Amino acid sequence: MNITNKLALDPVTQVPQIDAYMRYALIAAEEMVGKQALEIMLHKNGMQRFISNYPPDKIKLSTDFTHKDYANLCTALIEFYGEAGKDESIRFGRIATKPALAKQGVFFNVASRTAIKFLPLSLQIKTVLESIKNDLEKLYKEIDHDVSVSIEDRGDKWAYIDRSCALCAGKETDVPICWGWVGTLSESLNWLTGKEFEIDQVECRAMGEKACVWEICKTAKK
Ligand SMILES: [Zn+2]
Repeated sequence: MNITNKLALDPVTQVPQIDAYMRYALIAAEEMVGKQALEIMLHKNGMQRFISNYPPDKIKLSTDFTHKDYANLCTALIEFYGEAGKDESIRFGRIATKPALAKQGVFFNVASRTAIKFLPLSLQIKTVLESIKNDLEKLYKEIDHDVSVSIEDRGDKWAYIDRSCALCAGKETDVPICWGWVGTLSESLNWLTGKEFEIDQVECRAMGEKACVWEICKTAKK
């Protein structure tokens, strides 16, 4: 696998990232590779300004950095881990999602969490996916940015479709690389249902597709 920067401008690279999400991602990366390796990684990828300077723990759009920075961090981690890049990126996604879920209300409020548990499992999954989509739409509404996320019923799977994926913004490669989002979806679904699901990325913008697409099995792993 070889990840390069797209020659043509990818407009998704200019979409502002959310302060707290970048913070959680940096803390997760630090926890995984250690402070020193992360500093080297940030240096190598033109992200020196984040060294010992993580964004505030605020769920709001940043004025200082964009999806481009987020994609740089995600792909730097993939390169750091080499062969283990996929598994470690999923782990990274899960670690980075925990603090957002701990805030309860980033994705779901407590009352709805209890109510959702009475739904059939497939609808619980759909609710989680829609909550993520709705929260992103709410956040990006202030700058009139269409987050371009849709949820599709594909029989025994749900598809989460993102036309402005932050994980691969401006990148080019020959295999899907947005495994961090597999971790985010897994952690969010587990938080609500207590179960694990098979999740696969089946399309990737970095491969020239219009959207990044993840398919989530409607039944839990045994
Ligand atoms: Zn992507």
